[in-house]
Amino acid sequence: MRILVTGGAGFIGSHLIDRLMTDGHEVICLDNFYTGHKHNILKWLNHPYFELIRHDITEPIRLEVNQIYHLACPASPVHYQYNPVKTVKTNVLGTMNMLGLAKRVKARFLLASTSEVYGDPEVHPQVEEYRGSVNPIGIRSCYDEGKRIAETLAFDYHRQNDVDIRVARIFNTYGPRMLENDGRVVSNLVVQALRDIPLTIYGDGSQTRSFCYVSDLVEGLMRLMNGDHIGPVNLGNPDEYTILELATAVQKLVNPQADIKFEPLPQDDPRRRRPDITRAKTWLNWEPTIGLQQGLKMTVEDFSSRIKGDQRIAVTELG
Ligand code: NAD
Ligand code: UDP
Repeated sequence: MRILVTGGAGFIGSHLIDRLMTDGHEVICLDNFYTGHKHNILKWLNHPYFELIRHDITEPIRLEVNQIYHLACPASPVHYQYNPVKTVKTNVLGTMNMLGLAKRVKARFLLASTSEVYGDPEVHPQVEEYRGSVNPIGIRSCYDEGKRIAETLAFDYHRQNDVDIRVARIFNTYGPRMLENDGRVVSNLVVQALRDIPLTIYGDGSQTRSFCYVSDLVEGLMRLMNGDHIGPVNLGNPDEYTILELATAVQKLVNPQADIKFEPLPQDDPRRRRPDITRAKTWLNWEPTIGLQQGLKMTVEDFSSRIKGDQRIAVTELG
């Protein structure tokens, strides 16, 4: 199959491309390199079945493909809040352009949506039927509401134009290739522990998240794309941790001497988040296989090798 991955030079997209290329597909990666990097897909650049196109999805493009994994959108609050209007354009205009492409060439279209559509949830764990509690005018809205309208667009193109859609609601995902300056909690804590600087916890650290290792997530995305259910389907690891527990785990694994520093909680920061994955289990026969300890260890190894040259690194035994 010829498969388009938008945002393919990013964290999740590049892991997805590794799997698709290994499975023998022809892959087109579309990216404007806002948070993505060529080095994430370096090993495929000269492969005859691989094509990289530098393109901003807010502009239309004509391509012939069978499937579209639509991942293009900055995912870290730091990056999506840097230029919020652009984030909205990427989610609205960009998703419309990609759905228009899917409609024209009759490609199956998978939207990488997010647990953020649930906002600061009153229902716990979050089931797909829950409609969410999202602030439409806050600093996270460009992303949360952007993804909600992206879902709306996907379902309207499906109902109105018969586009074959799949919608994944992805929960916090981590792993190798996250940017050092990504700003999300796992990468921040790991980099801080490796550099022997205080681990930053926003608020009192009692807020929770559920962390999914990237290879598990990619498996879920591919099962959804190639299965019969359009979704939405939650994809995430239901093991829930407070941010303080996560920091302690990173501290123990990387640098027991590292200090912890408490900083103000950002506006609208969700208090808790955990996926109900009953749909993913029954529809896709999918559930995560990699626990936090194992996933953190692989993530720390990757960050450690990337910033090895740095004199300040203080790595102790890795597990
Ligand atoms: P990422 O920032 O590493 O990747 C996003 C990619 O999209 C980057 O390569 C970036 O350059 C590209 N991009 C951004 N705007 C673009 C535009 N206008 N045109 C073309 N390319 C553009 O993020 P990620 O963690 O890999 O997330 C991938 C997708 O999964 C995103 O849609 C995100 O919303 C979704 N998601 C991720 C998580 C997570 O925890 N990582 C959770 C929920 C949803
Ligand atoms: N967070 C933190 N320290 C950091 C970065 C983030 O305590 O250095 C917190 C953040 O306030 C949030 C949680 O960790 O409560 C997850 O943040 P992240 O940005 O990774 O993802 P999201 O909030 O989008 O789930």
